[in-house]
Amino acid sequence: MRRRSRRAKILATLGPASADRAAIAALYRAGADAFRLNFSHGSHEQTQALYNIIREVEESALHPIAVVADLQGPKLRIGELANGTVSLREGQAFRLDQGHAKGDESRAPLPHEAVYGALNVGMDILLDDGRIHLRVTACGEDFAETEVVTGGALSDHKGVNLPGAILPLKALTDKDRRDLAFAVNLGVDWLALSFVQRPEDVAEARMLAGPDVAIMAKIEKPSAVKRFDEILELADGIMVARGDLGVELAPEAVPAVQKQIVRAARDAGKPVVVATQMLESMIRAPAPTRAEASDVATAVYDGGDALMLSAETAVGDYAAETVDMMHRIIDRVEHDPLHRQFLEAAHTLPTATAADAISAAAHQVAQTIGATAIATYTQSGATAFRAARERPQIPILVLTPRLNMARRLALGWGLRCIRGDDARDFDDMVERASRAAHFRGYAEEGSKLVIIAGVPFGTPGATNLLHIAFIPRFTDRRDEQRPLTAGPDEAHDTRDQVRVPEIER
Ligand code: PEP
Repeated sequence: MRRRSRRAKILATLGPASADRAAIAALYRAGADAFRLNFSHGSHEQTQALYNIIREVEESALHPIAVVADLQGPKLRIGELANGTVSLREGQAFRLDQGHAKGDESRAPLPHEAVYGALNVGMDILLDDGRIHLRVTACGEDFAETEVVTGGALSDHKGVNLPGAILPLKALTDKDRRDLAFAVNLGVDWLALSFVQRPEDVAEARMLAGPDVAIMAKIEKPSAVKRFDEILELADGIMVARGDLGVELAPEAVPAVQKQIVRAARDAGKPVVVATQMLESMIRAPAPTRAEASDVATAVYDGGDALMLSAETAVGDYAAETVDMMHRIIDRVEHDPLHRQFLEAAHTLPTATAADAISAAAHQVAQTIGATAIATYTQSGATAFRAARERPQIPILVLTPRLNMARRLALGWGLRCIRGDDARDFDDMVERASRAAHFRGYAEEGSKLVIIAGVPFGTPGATNLLHIAFIPRFTDRRDEQRPLTAGPDEAHDTRDQVRVPEIER
């Protein structure tokens, strides 16, 4: 079992290569902190089975795990071709239209009405993740005539990208709405929205999802990059979805956009996930390229909250090995003194709020007195994310009575979450936090712990207290963690029932 002292988290996508209990437990043991359920593939039944396994693994690890449901979004695809595939040559004419007949060497069906209104002569259309490049030569209400700029083999249902166009598409398709309702009922912690184009897309999803699920906006369209600040304001978290973003933007544009997004999300205190092709060659090989290792390292030096694996863990031959490799790269970077220098160089001042002032002070006090951990009490998650925004050198222990919050926060930089009851009074607050830190190996007898909380206890958004605790000698091993099973989140005392978790390696 891997000791969870790493700050940057690993989000692993599940798929056919990781669909049973042994495989998912192996990913967890190798270092996965969160799992992505990709609604572009699989039935609800299969997704439900994966979700149930994640919760079993979580229960036996006594460690909250974040589950991210990734909705497919309005992904554009061509229809069917007569022989399943056609070959397109540079310079030839090729038509896309709304006809129902199967495609051939001269045309293909593109059954998305909304596309045609957004086209202009001279516009680029990319097929199959940008491998095939078409340029519009004429267009109308239900067709586009194009010239092939870069040819290749085109097969059924390949994806279509229109860089630069803002399409009058609904943010959530009918399938997305069904998947969203299913995912919310399932109890997922995050909903990732694909192909967000405008802030309104985030607002619509939030209205449908309700208050118990956090919304992550995937940035994969140039239009989302343009309106990023407004999208960031409305979303709870951000994903730099470099797969589609890398098709719609020139390759040389992606690194700067990635850095800008990570920096802006960090400044806002919202978790940011860097995704796609991080260790791509490990889908089929037991070791990554050195360039891939460097890509993972860059996201860690930049202070990203989580790094995502897609096909590597969903369909790869070395799923657990890839997580292990990602863990080792992150761990090595986090032990490099330059990592701290980079984090501090990119640190911005706290905003003028009590939560930020207390979180910044906690970081500073912890450094000055040599505390071994910061403990935060949180209801809404806000205090924990503000503490993470400071990117402190020591772990941040999060105590929350809300199971879904403990899970949601598992994606945040440096956050170690425990579901425990709210403190009854000041002494109880110190005792619970001290026990939690001590029995998880974050604070030894005699060491110091910085605690931040809000008084009155249990009031969301009331962060106003900072206390330095000295860890006493505990004569029993009573711990404060409540069971990680679904159930009412109201406070109750379960101290006598719970197990003390084994300290992980
Ligand atoms: C991406 O495009 O980078 C991405 C994460 O989206 P998906 O894997 O759902 O296509």
